[in-house]
Amino acid sequence: MKQSMSFIPTLREVPADAEIKSHQLLLRAGFIRQNASGVYSFLPLGKRVLQKIEAIIREEMDRAGAIELFMPALQQAELWQESGRWYSYGPELMRLKDRHDRDFALGATHEEVITALVRDEVKSYKRLPLTLYQIQTKFRDEKRPRFGLLRGREFIMKDAYSFHASQESLDEVYNKMYEAYANVFRRCGLNFRAVIADSGAMGGKDTHEFMVLSDVGEDTIAYSDCSDYAANIEMAPVITTYERSDEPHAPLEKVHTPEQRSIEEVSQFLQVPKEKCIKSLLFKVDDRYVLVLVRGDHEVNDVKVKNILEATVVELATPEETKQVMNCEVGSLGPIGVSDDVLVLADHAVKAIVNGVCGANEAHYHYKGVNPDRDFVAQYADVRFIQEGDPSPDGKGTIRFARGIEVGHVFKLGTRYSEAMNATYLDENGRMQPMIMGCYGIGVSRTLAAIAEQYNDEHGLIWPTAVAPFHVHLISVNPKVDEQRKLADEWYIRLQQEGFEVLYDDRAERPGVKFADSDLIGLPVRVTIGKRVSEGIVEVKVRKTGETEEVHVSQLVETLR
Ligand code: ATP
Ligand code: MG
Ligand code: MG
Ligand code: MG
Repeated sequence: MKQSMSFIPTLREVPADAEIKSHQLLLRAGFIRQNASGVYSFLPLGKRVLQKIEAIIREEMDRAGAIELFMPALQQAELWQESGRWYSYGPELMRLKDRHDRDFALGATHEEVITALVRDEVKSYKRLPLTLYQIQTKFRDEKRPRFGLLRGREFIMKDAYSFHASQESLDEVYNKMYEAYANVFRRCGLNFRAVIADSGAMGGKDTHEFMVLSDVGEDTIAYSDCSDYAANIEMAPVITTYERSDEPHAPLEKVHTPEQRSIEEVSQFLQVPKEKCIKSLLFKVDDRYVLVLVRGDHEVNDVKVKNILEATVVELATPEETKQVMNCEVGSLGPIGVSDDVLVLADHAVKAIVNGVCGANEAHYHYKGVNPDRDFVAQYADVRFIQEGDPSPDGKGTIRFARGIEVGHVFKLGTRYSEAMNATYLDENGRMQPMIMGCYGIGVSRTLAAIAEQYNDEHGLIWPTAVAPFHVHLISVNPKVDEQRKLADEWYIRLQQEGFEVLYDDRAERPGVKFADSDLIGLPVRVTIGKRVSEGIVEVKVRKTGETEEVHVSQLVETLR
């Protein structure tokens, strides 16, 4: 590509609102431009890197037996209502209405769409397993879009979904995907680590995140200093105290609270200090139900396990016990929000303790005189997250912390979506069974930024060859000199014929500007045609090491290979 005809608007100054290296350099080197908060255009160079990453992903997905398709970003609300996530996903889901006042969402993820698609087309075990993937734009109205492409509100994701007739089949594909992910990130040149991730419930070994190690990462990885153990600290709660309470449930006074209320409203209505209010979350862990009473003020739909820094965990051995304690049917705790394995109780099931007030699990009523430990506790424990210096949960070594950028996530979903959305197949005995599912995501645009974050120096970006927008930056120092321009024009063609992707700086700019831009853009090698042109000598410079070499053009292809 001739630079004179391209669109690479470089900047000398560091953009004021870009806090981290990758964001600054991608802007300065003309790879991206911000459109709105968390919304970016990919300029020609950025687009080429995306395509390189996507090509690597496609190769690895195809090798793992996944088939590409493309699904809509515009998704009808009905599907999200079927899965329950219309109610639980919260403000991150971009919602809109069409001209007929029908509700839609912009796809934050595609479990609903693909489950509906496969449900309608696949009826027999003979068609399973099936793994499908797409590379597509996702929309999430992030609370804090930041760090450029690292946390956007519109971003590119590769998402894959697998459907199975047995757990063994899911395990097999999960392992293949795990391998494929490791290959993708290795080929992108990233220094990364796969870590045990939070499955949305306590524990959960069936999900891993791929973390690029970086100080600007928003996740904390807890790893052992002498084994392979590595986990997102979100998934490593440590139980510090554990006691049994055999007190009977006390009789409680019921108060009418006329409208559905948030914690905040309840605290106002019943004149309860807000910090004493708690929220309850019900988790299902295998056959166990865990009720977590979370202290503090939380948005109903924005509650995540990571918010449980100080919580009381109530373990309920069986659904029956849960029913008894919660005083209602499990699964009918009012409008329950369902997010992955986490059931989030809606407003009127929210408990506010103050010498006690709590939701009565009945619309518009709260109990007074509640002592949660006495009234709601079968067993309880205080949880905190794992800390540096703790013994490693695998018994080997001591826990250390590192920061990570989550670039990929593989997850065994089980029948969470197929049951909610009725995606069934007929097994060998003609019996109807819910499909067992897995899902696998890679943040493609985030991966681009993560590479930029790991590969740069004070002069600019330093692209690994596998994902570089071009392989060679060919520069004619002064195109006004006929001899220089002619040789550069000639080698621009010849290098491409030899299979190199060439960015050719044919602009009539000062050499200083060209070299500075070249370092900023960061292609792996620079070939400069300058004053020794009459001898047929050019300069080859390796961007990463800064090493330069004078080479006769007859040796150029060999040198570059
Ligand atoms: P995070 O914890 O960073 O919010 P997530 O766990 O919500 O990410 P997933 O639902 O697991 O994300 O989505 C799969 C992948 O999509 C992530 O591993 C990440 O690489 C990418 N991704 C998620 N959110 C964003 C975003 N806002 N901007 C860019 N990439 C994202
Ligand atoms: Mg997120
Ligand atoms: Mg995450
Ligand atoms: Mg994730």
